[in-house]
Amino acid sequence: MSLEEEFKKRLPSSEKLFRRALRVLPDGLTHEVYYMRPYPPFMEKAAGARKWDLDSNEYIDYWMGHGSLLLGHCYPDVVQAVREQVGKGTHYGSCYPLEVEWAELVTSMVPSAKMIRFTASGTEAVMLAVKLARAFTGKDKVIKLEGGFHGWSDYAQIGGGLTPPYDVPASSGIPQEVRNTVLLARPGDAEAALELLRRHHDVACVLVEPGGGLVGRLPSSREYLGRLRWMTQKYGVVLIFDEVVTGFRYAPGGCQEYWGVLPDLTCLGKVMAGGMPGAGAVAGNREIMSFLSRKGDIEWDRYRRVEHHGTFNAAPATVAAGVATLRVIKSGAAIPEADRLADRLRHGLNEVFRTHGVRCCMYGRSSLVLPLLNHDCELFPQCERAVCSLDYRLINRFDPEVHASLRERMLLQGIDFFPVAMFLSFAHSDDDVERTVQAWDNTVKAMK
Ligand code: PLP
Repeated sequence: MSLEEEFKKRLPSSEKLFRRALRVLPDGLTHEVYYMRPYPPFMEKAAGARKWDLDSNEYIDYWMGHGSLLLGHCYPDVVQAVREQVGKGTHYGSCYPLEVEWAELVTSMVPSAKMIRFTASGTEAVMLAVKLARAFTGKDKVIKLEGGFHGWSDYAQIGGGLTPPYDVPASSGIPQEVRNTVLLARPGDAEAALELLRRHHDVACVLVEPGGGLVGRLPSSREYLGRLRWMTQKYGVVLIFDEVVTGFRYAPGGCQEYWGVLPDLTCLGKVMAGGMPGAGAVAGNREIMSFLSRKGDIEWDRYRRVEHHGTFNAAPATVAAGVATLRVIKSGAAIPEADRLADRLRHGLNEVFRTHGVRCCMYGRSSLVLPLLNHDCELFPQCERAVCSLDYRLINRFDPEVHASLRERMLLQGIDFFPVAMFLSFAHSDDDVERTVQAWDNTVKAMK
């Protein structure tokens, strides 16, 4: 039986639903990254580190809500908090106590966060951070890193996205005027950013994922971030860390705590809301955040202030999940456990490559496990260092055939993962890691 035949035999209900979905959803999907041939699995329920599709096939899940579920699916405190809150109302059209507690929790955890404004997604957080930086500096241009991912706003999709080339935006529909306001630098190359700052005197901000572009795939380091911190201060430019992925994952205070380099503004999302929709925020120092505040002065309030809206900013059920999640993370055990399991998984999967003589590698920091499947890696299997030695443009050059086959084979063995990154959680176990390594072994053997 071919792989596709086996897939269709095991997931018939997903195929049926996919045909229905194709009639009403472009590509039959609600998110770009669910695209797969012959069709994606449709899920019915999830708990802990597991999820089940419509045909009751069980999967160890490494998508973990695109990285938002650091505690795993349906963590009891989170479920209880959301249930209670939904019974008390999902939108008051008004201020309420729990949003203040959420703001206090985040600002007590993230070192550079003195004040915070909630948004309804990570994409919106980046949009607001850039707007604040422009209002604060009175300048327009944004320096970004090639290949970095910051959501799907016009600015974010210039030079960003899953696949090169980076000089063409990741999406069509972006005006040339907007493209003219974005300057791209090579990731991990402080001198490239410095050169841009020397040449352009109209730069408002430098926007980076501190753990490395695209969920940590691209180079970054403490030294690099320290250099960015130094040069942005020198040139009066706002340094923005996009910690949508790294926030509350690398450390309770995110990558800025992990590496000890503090930005002016931080974009947050995902884990902050414990897997509930509406996860987003910009946090920062009082001076810049005060651009969201009124002063009772018409000149300031109408012409200089940053106006920001959003029906679902800090919506009560989201906030309930966020508060419950952050309390657990703050209490200490979740991050070290997810990190320990990720270490084991990286090591186990690399052993498989080594055993089969396949020169690929798994790398990544914290609880992220990142496959590098299409490169003859010089320093294999010293993955952390290997990625710095590579031409970063090769890292994102996915071979769709390899990825499709890998994902399909792993799904058939009860493992589901996002081919860009596997997210470990507090809910995974040593047994999950062992089963995944075994499935990887079967897969690499078959694909070799
Ligand atoms: N920034 C980074 C670093 C991300 O990884 C993402 C999403 O994956 C975003 C921003 C966008 O967040 P959202 O999907 O909540 O809009």
